[in-house]
Amino acid sequence: MTMIFQDPMTSLNPVKRIGEQIAESLRIHMNRSRSEAMAEAGDLLEQVGIPEPAKRLRQYPHELSGGLRQRVVIAIALACGPRLLIADEPTTALDVTVQKHILDLLDDLRKERGMSMILITHDLGVVKGRTDEIMVMYGGRTMEKAPTSTLFERDGLHPYTEALNATIPKIDTPSHTRLVPIPGKPPEVIGKITGCPFVPRCRYSTSECLTDMPPLVEQEKRHLCACHNPVSTPEGIKAREANQNAGHTPAGLDMKEFETSATQADTGEL
Ligand code: SF4
Repeated sequence: MTMIFQDPMTSLNPVKRIGEQIAESLRIHMNRSRSEAMAEAGDLLEQVGIPEPAKRLRQYPHELSGGLRQRVVIAIALACGPRLLIADEPTTALDVTVQKHILDLLDDLRKERGMSMILITHDLGVVKGRTDEIMVMYGGRTMEKAPTSTLFERDGLHPYTEALNATIPKIDTPSHTRLVPIPGKPPEVIGKITGCPFVPRCRYSTSECLTDMPPLVEQEKRHLCACHNPVSTPEGIKAREANQNAGHTPAGLDMKEFETSATQADTGEL
């Protein structure tokens, strides 16, 4: 099992050459000699698409671009032939143009090596089309779990999933259209959370959400959701309408927060 993190600059040792950093785990865990490990390090750089691998082996991290540095981190992660790769926000620190290349590379390597991968991200656009299954977490708890195609068919059953989907820029919306934000901020997870952790930000909430955390239950085949009032269900529609009529949710969230977002998104108003 291995892991890659979001910022390659802080994952790499700034005072060690790239070659030494890749060869280190090969020598320690795979009992390779120095020369064998260095030759394998060059092969790994080639596999992750780094041009002129022999030259790169002698360079330091600051001599490479952000995209190349993340490729080096991936090469280090792959060195010992892991069966599971955990990628924690692997593209967050990179330019948008480089992000797709890195995600495509991870996808290709996963298929070539028959490796499993867990992709951790706050951007549903990153996992759409690249994963078999998605687990949506909030406040340290699982909110929804489903095959990827099922989850995107209906933009999610859980209000948090629906809200995350609304934040993805769509190619067919007019330019200057504002993204739809989720009002409020994430919960403090250090203390004990009473009720549903999403309740301060949820437009579907009812009074029971303030006190009872709903269990994760199968709503449809292989589609699990932890919510008292899932989106598009009779309970969800009723709760949302009741909050709309009251002007606020039981947690005190002003429903105008959502109207403003929706109006701006519809009109492209800045
Ligand atoms: S409806 Fe209730 S249980 Fe469901 S996400 Fe909103 S606050 Fe949580």
